[in-house]
Amino acid sequence: MHRSLEMAVRDAYPSPGKCIYCLRKDTARTIEHIVPLALNGTWIIHDAACAECRDKTNHRYENKALNSDSLRVIRKFLRLKRRRRGNDQKEIRLPPVWSGDSANLIYAPPPLAENPLEEEFPAIFAWLDLEPARLLAAHYPPESREKIRVVFTRLDGRSVPDEPVSLRLQIPPALFMLVARIGYSYAVAELSTDGFDGSEIRALLSDGGENVFDFVGGVYGLKSNNSSHFHDLKITEVGEFVVVMVNLFSSYGIPPLEVIVGKRLK
Ligand SMILES: [Zn+2]
Repeated sequence: MHRSLEMAVRDAYPSPGKCIYCLRKDTARTIEHIVPLALNGTWIIHDAACAECRDKTNHRYENKALNSDSLRVIRKFLRLKRRRRGNDQKEIRLPPVWSGDSANLIYAPPPLAENPLEEEFPAIFAWLDLEPARLLAAHYPPESREKIRVVFTRLDGRSVPDEPVSLRLQIPPALFMLVARIGYSYAVAELSTDGFDGSEIRALLSDGGENVFDFVGGVYGLKSNNSSHFHDLKITEVGEFVVVMVNLFSSYGIPPLEVIVGKRLK
């Protein structure tokens, strides 16, 4: 059902010659980070997003997602702060961000910080393990659409206590819009905007929408990607769709999500 395409590992992708979101060629464009810099994203696409689309993605969901409880906790824990002028950032060593096929490259994650900031922040990271994206309904058995699980991971490597944990958790749809954008921009970087029919997800990303869970969902039957990479992205195919597996924080055992980026072209 899944197929990993052979991909080269690259840090910077060349300009697609147009904005990857609105496809306009006549506007000034800037670098697009596939995974946000605030999450230690290192891959960029040169000259890939126009000012108007950047404003839309930033204001409609990206900033909201980065400041949501789930990502705020991990950013704080990892001392990942958005670069601000005059703000001296502490260097931290993290596993390399990686994309492609895990057969060839394995990195061991470095040990986590000595002082896990426990007084300031719980070192427990919460994430949703979703049912598969609705567009894939025909490709997964009915029992895959049962429930949504909240996954707790201790960032300091200790096991999650058995006693009930009470967390006030806000996981907004904006988070999954960000995941959709990450999957789409990675697919475009690897396959180009002509490599698949991305018109539907582009409409979602620029107009926002209540149908983000048509495009973003859990990977059926896969609770962990067993990856030691900080973030992991892979292009696969499910039925007629091109799908990107987006596994943020994969080295912490966070389950991956799938983004349906569009239909394959014949
Ligand atoms: Zn644009």
